[in-house]
Amino acid sequence: MNYLFNPGPVNLSKRVRNALLRPDLCHREPEYLELLQEIQQRLLQAYSLEPHRWQVAVLSGSGTAAVEAMLVGLVPEKGRVLVICNGVYGERMRDILHSHNLPYALLEFNWEEAIQPEVLEKAFKRHKDLSHVAVVQHETSTGRLNDLAAVGALCRERGLPLLVDAVSAFGAEQLRAEDWGVAACAFSSGKCLHGIPGLGMVLLSQEASNGLQKNRNYYLNLQRCLSSPNSPLFTPALHCHYALQEALAESAEQGGPAVRRRLYLHRRRLLHEGLEAAGLRPLVPTPQAASSTSAFPLRGMSYEALHAKLKKQGLIIYAAQGRLAGRLFRLSVMGEIPDAVFRRLARRIGELYAR
Ligand SMILES: *Cc1c(COP(=O)(O)O)cnc(C)c1O
Repeated sequence: MNYLFNPGPVNLSKRVRNALLRPDLCHREPEYLELLQEIQQRLLQAYSLEPHRWQVAVLSGSGTAAVEAMLVGLVPEKGRVLVICNGVYGERMRDILHSHNLPYALLEFNWEEAIQPEVLEKAFKRHKDLSHVAVVQHETSTGRLNDLAAVGALCRERGLPLLVDAVSAFGAEQLRAEDWGVAACAFSSGKCLHGIPGLGMVLLSQEASNGLQKNRNYYLNLQRCLSSPNSPLFTPALHCHYALQEALAESAEQGGPAVRRRLYLHRRRLLHEGLEAAGLRPLVPTPQAASSTSAFPLRGMSYEALHAKLKKQGLIIYAAQGRLAGRLFRLSVMGEIPDAVFRRLARRIGELYAR
């Protein structure tokens, strides 16, 4: 058995895995609609969001599909998005906008630093034509949790809707969508929600839903998806719904996102204490770090060697991406993994660094 320390897909709990064995189901039957509606309700309940103010579009596709659907669905041709970037996933939002020929301006921060509100304010003064701001909540490439409250406050002052890539945050990190002025956020079934990969979701405020673009794209079209709630337009990734419904029930029984965040923090502590003994410290200091994922400098070790030695023992660590490749390795604490395995992983890495 392999333990996955990557930020999704995650090791499944027994009950989520067993949910995949439920009866075959046609998506034109009322049972599918009940399943979909339960998923939508549970997603809103997880963050105490009012169903008359918020909607969730459920698409078949990975997290990137949800991010793309959100950006393409909400950014008008005459608008301009300020993309705040301090890692690979900020760059991905820029690339998505670029590939759809949608107007944007990039505000890039050092990938090892937090978003600086003063710099953001200056960017607002420089770009008078902005229609939206886009930001990643948990920048998974470095393990940084961007301060949505601070970014959101500045956006609200200017009436700019905030679009959030919450793919590796939703289900564990805080999300005070109303207070932070979030207009929409995108996430997926297979990360902090502990389902299987295959569903990409977009949470939309009422204002955002009202402003959806109609015919810009076809398949990942939020307007089309939400306007036919009683009959899915395309064959959905049905079994992913089974798994997500079960995963959401499991999370709710455990106490929801706040409890999951505490669980992650506990696991992270087990890892960090072990690794600190070997002299390894995470790239992002704890107060600015996401609960689930940390990046550690490789310090002369080759990633391939480290990965191969750990893989022999069923411990799957994760490489860094983009310009950080070859400099860092990453460890995530999502999914169904016993505490003892986090201790074992920390011990094994410690031993490899001691040689
Ligand atoms: C994983 C991730 C994505 C992309 O998700 P896929 O499911 O791989 O398409 C996007 N944004 C962030 C922040 C992520 O962590």
